[in-house]
Amino acid sequence: MPVSGTEAAAGTPPRHGPAELVTVAEHRRACLDLVQPLAPLEASLLDALGCVLAEDVVATRPLPAFDNSAMDGYAVRVADVAEATPASPVRLPVVADLAAGSAESMRLAPGSAVRIMTGAPVPPNTGAVVPVEWTDGGVASVEVRHCPAEGQHIRRAGEDAAAGVVVVEAGTRLQPRHVAVLAAVGRARVRVRPRPRVVVISTGSEVVEPGQSLGPGQLHDANGFGLTAAALDLGAQAYRVGVVRDDPAELRRTLEDQLVRADVIVTSGGVSAGAYDVVKEVLHRTGSVGFCGVAMQPGMPQGAGTLGEDRTPLLALPGNPVSAFVSFEVFVRPVLRRLLGEDPEAPDPQRPRVRALAAAAWRSPAGKEQYVRARWWRDGDGALRVEPVSGAGSHLVTALARADCLAVVPVGVDGVEVGDEVECVLLGPAA
Ligand code: AMP
Ligand code: MG
Repeated sequence: MPVSGTEAAAGTPPRHGPAELVTVAEHRRACLDLVQPLAPLEASLLDALGCVLAEDVVATRPLPAFDNSAMDGYAVRVADVAEATPASPVRLPVVADLAAGSAESMRLAPGSAVRIMTGAPVPPNTGAVVPVEWTDGGVASVEVRHCPAEGQHIRRAGEDAAAGVVVVEAGTRLQPRHVAVLAAVGRARVRVRPRPRVVVISTGSEVVEPGQSLGPGQLHDANGFGLTAAALDLGAQAYRVGVVRDDPAELRRTLEDQLVRADVIVTSGGVSAGAYDVVKEVLHRTGSVGFCGVAMQPGMPQGAGTLGEDRTPLLALPGNPVSAFVSFEVFVRPVLRRLLGEDPEAPDPQRPRVRALAAAAWRSPAGKEQYVRARWWRDGDGALRVEPVSGAGSHLVTALARADCLAVVPVGVDGVEVGDEVECVLLGPAA
């Protein structure tokens, strides 16, 4: 019974006194300490998209592998067409036709031309390729109207990459352009860090599936979908588990079932000090998950630790949808980035940061780091501006959809005045 209250699993949960708040940085460190990058495995190229490469990929042969034509035209020796002009073209017999993929090995005899298509290997003693536009396009013989420079329109073997050159470095998060290059050097499979498997569990007896009608006191499961989508968006393999009621036995059973397929478990709800805070109740008994208050708004109550024999990392987030979303950004994202093989301390390309001038004033609790749903824009004079999109209530979920950044107010600051510079974490690409 890995999730039972009687067997304390050997983990190192972050432990803090009940009243004392820990800083965001301290709790993030405690979360990061729970995980290591996942062990690399071989993946086919399309499966590797979005994963972090775990090897330097080298061109094992020159790229291109052979000298070939950059144009549809005629392979010639430059001396044979040196005098060619539109007024006095040079006519050469066409002795062969080379299409792309041709394996014919032939030398170009002096005084002749070979009709050649883009990508076809040029005969060894070709001086240049005359584009078809500079000729009459003849098949048996060709009239050449301009003289090409030596080597013109020939792509040389190895000019893209010499054999032995690293074409994509270990540590690269693979984008489509990298996949193209891996294929171009002939790799069908590469070593990558796998996508972390993230199991997302919502808790709350009041929470029901979207699509179902609401009874009295009920609301729809925003967190299960929002958190799963956030994990997918980051490149994880995410599984959303249906909502678990505030029943310790049901939660214990669900966690035990899910452990086998999880590299990390993320729960929402049930971590405050209320009577039915089932996540806290079940997990603090394991002895391997710690709960604390983090000096942030929203998202103060947090839990983190490991579960079961394999010490599967678990992050327990608060239930208010805005708190859950911000907690994902601040704690779960870095954890998933580390599992994926990225450096969680390095700038996050999906979350650029800008400094913007506040276009409105707002209050902030001085003892907490505040994350404000906000919108940013660029003024006519080029200055960046930012403004909150709603009140501070963590249940105000529609403002999340209108926000395109989180404005971050540090500890020690009790308010933002118009014109103050504020750090903003952009939730999409910087425009
Ligand atoms: P809790 O942290 O469980 O006390 O929940 C705090 C607030 O968030 C309560 O108002 C819950 O109804 C709400 N809540 C909890 N889980 C969800 C969820 N999955 N989707 C939407 N709201 C939730
Ligand atoms: Mg609850």
